[in-house]
Amino acid sequence: MIYSEQKPWEEIESYLQKDEKLFVLGCGGCAAASGSGGEEQVKDLSYKLDEAGWEVTGSRVIEFLCNKGLVGMRLARVSNQIEEADSILGAGCGIGVQAVGKLVDKQVHPANDTVSMGHFHGAWPSEETCERCGECLLEYTGGLCPLTVCTKGLLNGACGGSHDGECEVEPGRPCGWELIYDRLKEIDRLDLLTTYNDPKAREKYQFAPEMDQRKSLFWAIEAEQGE
Ligand code: SF4
Ligand code: SF4
Repeated sequence: MIYSEQKPWEEIESYLQKDEKLFVLGCGGCAAASGSGGEEQVKDLSYKLDEAGWEVTGSRVIEFLCNKGLVGMRLARVSNQIEEADSILGAGCGIGVQAVGKLVDKQVHPANDTVSMGHFHGAWPSEETCERCGECLLEYTGGLCPLTVCTKGLLNGACGGSHDGECEVEPGRPCGWELIYDRLKEIDRLDLLTTYNDPKAREKYQFAPEMDQRKSLFWAIEAEQGE
């Protein structure tokens, strides 16, 4: 169970300033269970976008955004709406948003912060990974997680040690920041490289002490399943 929380609306709005038309995508799996990506949240996001002057070309909640095969099939049915949109707003966990970014040639804005695996590191049908940092940066990195694609987890660009596109730490492994650069170039958002990403607030890596009832419920269910 991957727990995600919706980002503040002001932060989401700030991501969309270059776009006029958006497609809203939710995840019917963990994000729906977290209360951050199901039907209700997708409707709410679409409504807020409409109220704020954006055109919503369409919306969908797909069972598991981390399942690229499934997402590819589902998105094919709404390809016109996706084509019409300038970008996609993805209300899923960090893994789901990364996975969608691999399937479309448009920017996928993260609507959520992934805060926890809920004490359970399960398997998902996707090679994308997330360190549940609680402050998702996928907006600034072309939908590739800098904490996991870069061996050193650098937040603000390459270390300068890569050679022929390979990481200096792990020869044979592509340099994550070169991948991020290539993706930002592909979606015409190299401007995002000028954004400075603050060091991570470590307390957000896990549930805050004042966790609400829903989080407590997840823990209780998982504890029960683990017995
Ligand atoms: S930046 Fe990476 S680790 Fe943090 S929430 Fe996004 S995908 Fe997960
Ligand atoms: S070479 Fe690239 S992937 Fe490796 S640590 Fe440096 S920036 Fe990160």
